[in-house]
Amino acid sequence: MFATTAYPHLLAPLDLGFTTLPNRVLMGSMHTGLEDGRKHFPAMAAFFAERARGGVGLMVTGGFAPNIAGWTKPFAGTLATHGAARRHKQVTDAVHSEGGKIALQILHTGRYGYHPFCVAPSRIQSPISPFAPRELSVRGIERQIAAFVRCAALAREAGYDGVEVMGSEGYFINQFLVTHTNQRTDEWGGSYENRMRLPVEIVQRVREAVGRDFIIIYRLSMIDLIPDGSSWDEVVQLAKAIERAGATLINTGIGWHEARVPTIATSVPRGAFAWVTQKMRLELRESGLKIPLVTSNRINMPEVAEQILADGCADMVSLARPLLADPEFVNKAKQGRRDDINTCIACNQACLDHAFKAQLATCLVNPRAGHETELVWQRTPLIKRIAVVGAGPAGLAASTTLAERGHEVHLFDGAERIGGQFNMAKRIPGKEEFHETLRYFERRLAATGVKLHLSTRVSASDLIAGRFDEIVLATGVLPRQPRIPGADGPNVLSYIDVLLHGKPVGERVAIVGAGGIGFDVAEFLVTHDGHSPTMNLAEWQQEWGVTDPAVSRGGVVRAQPSAPARRVTLLQRKAGRPGKGLGKTTGWIHRAALQMKQVEMIGGVNYERITPQGLFVTYGDKRADGQLIECDTVVLCAGQEPLRELHEPLRAAGARTHLIGGAHEAGELDAKRAIDQGTRLAATL
Ligand code: FAD
Ligand code: NAP
Ligand code: SF4
Repeated sequence: MFATTAYPHLLAPLDLGFTTLPNRVLMGSMHTGLEDGRKHFPAMAAFFAERARGGVGLMVTGGFAPNIAGWTKPFAGTLATHGAARRHKQVTDAVHSEGGKIALQILHTGRYGYHPFCVAPSRIQSPISPFAPRELSVRGIERQIAAFVRCAALAREAGYDGVEVMGSEGYFINQFLVTHTNQRTDEWGGSYENRMRLPVEIVQRVREAVGRDFIIIYRLSMIDLIPDGSSWDEVVQLAKAIERAGATLINTGIGWHEARVPTIATSVPRGAFAWVTQKMRLELRESGLKIPLVTSNRINMPEVAEQILADGCADMVSLARPLLADPEFVNKAKQGRRDDINTCIACNQACLDHAFKAQLATCLVNPRAGHETELVWQRTPLIKRIAVVGAGPAGLAASTTLAERGHEVHLFDGAERIGGQFNMAKRIPGKEEFHETLRYFERRLAATGVKLHLSTRVSASDLIAGRFDEIVLATGVLPRQPRIPGADGPNVLSYIDVLLHGKPVGERVAIVGAGGIGFDVAEFLVTHDGHSPTMNLAEWQQEWGVTDPAVSRGGVVRAQPSAPARRVTLLQRKAGRPGKGLGKTTGWIHRAALQMKQVEMIGGVNYERITPQGLFVTYGDKRADGQLIECDTVVLCAGQEPLRELHEPLRAAGARTHLIGGAHEAGELDAKRAIDQGTRLAATL
């Protein structure tokens, strides 16, 4: 008996007139990179088929350009010919054979195109692309509209159930809407009626081309988050016109790519933008318009989605990354198995960061995402006794996958709880989601029958005596001890002392090392104890300057961050600005957050000595004297080294051992590599 009553709004069908969606979950469009090569189509079909099997109501593909001018980058996925439409059949057939529904996203990037053929309403280069766009002539605009229409007709021919017209995030259509990017004086510029003509014409003509029984989703930028973005009245006017033009659903777009407000990172509160869709829904309903609205961003658990729908914020919720993390999300919600969901922690590390580096997208917590045809495992015909040492991300992924395959797995950890370094990560303000990964693994350990031995630090002789068939060493890392005179003084702490042992830290702090951990420790120390703006929407909005678009165009005002709890200086030896090595799509958020808290970030230093007064540094070759950075506490975040003391004795004893995660290699280690390596090893043993 399924406990469907826990999420009645989420699991209710949605009648679109000519077709009915089985529930209120839309899988939002994500660029996985599978769109960009013919050879990836079988993988793309498997990717979507797995999510259709998982019960999603309606899925949207990654963006496909309607023509060359609309490419994201050279030779990006394009749907402009009958031949291309035939290739898409394998995707639509795979989805339909699992009982799912899928729409193709038509994405024209305009001035965001990373190629020399990009076009825009006006020749105004974007701050995030090196290419200045060509200003379109009136005939050129007609050609772009015709390309949208042709693409939609080809999508229908390919067997899609609909299309999503991408009108937000600062792409081509959005660029026509605001004077920031549209300075035309003809019938496509000037007044708002002129600027909004493009999306309305596109939707109208697409509807004429595809007929009445085909889903048209329009993704509408409801809050631009750029200073001279659309006003609220304009956004409402556009939504009404889009409904009249024949759209079936309006999806919510939040923020242009060039916006300086985080919109999907882990430090963004859950459901942080549902109020914008709710505001629009009220406007439309008051005008008697019934078009269903989809809301989006940071909706990663069924109870969050349920509350949003129950509060009347929207008619559907868009989940994108959460379905990379767990393709079974909807089925698990249906079956009352909420705690079994592998929750998206909004880290962007394996999805968006990959997309921006032209790598195939996958997921930090689910390395199978995007690799469904290649990373597969079966139950083993030969059951082995396997020891896994270390219950950090690497050991957790390995042990649960091994046990799922039928092996007898013993997981040892010296600590009293599972999680390894995630027990420090989860304490960082804005990284609360890391708790969810630990909850998921706790459930998965129990479900797969791993024999868990906590508070059990094992030695090589223990393991040899245990007569295991295989031994997996996932023992992680030790913090690197920098050789700075005075580093053994009482005013010096390691990040572990601060984050795990809660040792007292003074008012003025110098942090040695500005890698991921140095940045996290700085965020921890500038925040008042136990406090996190991520847990309070109003406070988070104030920190980042987000407001109602009815109050200020684009929904942005001056940020008013609260005062820092401590005066922090963050240092590195490398020349240049600290933070360059942080995530492609999240590094700027960490840097901006620390700047708002007046953290001084200094590169190119030599650490000379630590005294009770503070830390003495010099710059470059000038090593005399040294400048004192006055501080009460110095925190060492100087990188990590592998902890693999068990490896040699085990090998010498002839035991079959495998090193994974930090124990294998500490340089550039992160949880993405640890989980991927643990899973892949376990699939083969
Ligand atoms: P660990 O997590 O270090 O786990 C090793 C485990 O082995 C420990 O639990 C230890 O107790 C156990 N162990 C060791 N020796 C023995 C023994 N002899 N017997 C029994 N048990 C033993 N990564 C990201 O990808 N994204 C982030 O945002 C991120 N943020 C972070 C923030 C902080 C503050 C920190 C400290 C780390 C962060 N990381 C992040 C890094 C990430 O946590 C590590 O890369 C990951 O935990 C490494 O996994 P692991 O399994 O190899 O090792
Ligand atoms: P890291 O990113 O490699 O940074 C280590 C820092 O220590 C660097 O700033 C380095 O800069 C400095 N350093 C190295 N050797 C030193 C020495 N001998 N003396 C003084 N300083 C030294 O490693 P980390 O910060 O320890 O993080 C560990 C891993 O966790 C990282 O690989 C990271 O990917 C992951 N992590 C990720 C996130 C995330 O948000 N994605 C957050 C936290 C951690 P200089 O050499 O220039 O001084
Ligand atoms: Fe979510 Fe991170 Fe996975 Fe992306 S990589 S889907 S943000 S957990």
